[in-house]
Amino acid sequence: MHTNIGGKIKVLAKVITWLGIIISVIMGLNLNTAAPISSSGSSFISVAIIVVGSLASWIGSFLLYGFGELIEKTTEVARYTAMQQQLSQARQPLPIAQLLPRPVPVSQPVTKPVSNGEGLWECSCGTMNPPHFTNCRACSKLKKA
Ligand SMILES: [Zn+2]
Repeated sequence: MHTNIGGKIKVLAKVITWLGIIISVIMGLNLNTAAPISSSGSSFISVAIIVVGSLASWIGSFLLYGFGELIEKTTEVARYTAMQQQLSQARQPLPIAQLLPRPVPVSQPVTKPVSNGEGLWECSCGTMNPPHFTNCRACSKLKKA
């Protein structure tokens, strides 16, 4: 019922244009028959009514036609977006996989143990020294800056 409204509005715009043109022609002809045929003034007016009336209904339909075109394009874009979403959802893993806990990464980032624990520092000999020690307690080597 309400599908392709944009297209229906465009058809309506065309119908209104033709109705406007037909009404303008009928009005112009009626004026011509009502007035004396010899009068050039009334025939000019009837032609003017036909031309201006037709033009007015034609130009007036631009707005309606444009509106219909706009709706049609918007509907197209919406349909395309929905299609894209469906495609991207199909590519995603199953929802159950998202509910399960993520696996813990096997390889932890490797950090060089320059100091360990509470400010301990490791000597080149491998001994752990307290932070206030300026020299290694095993080999008395100076603490690296
Ligand atoms: Zn040492």
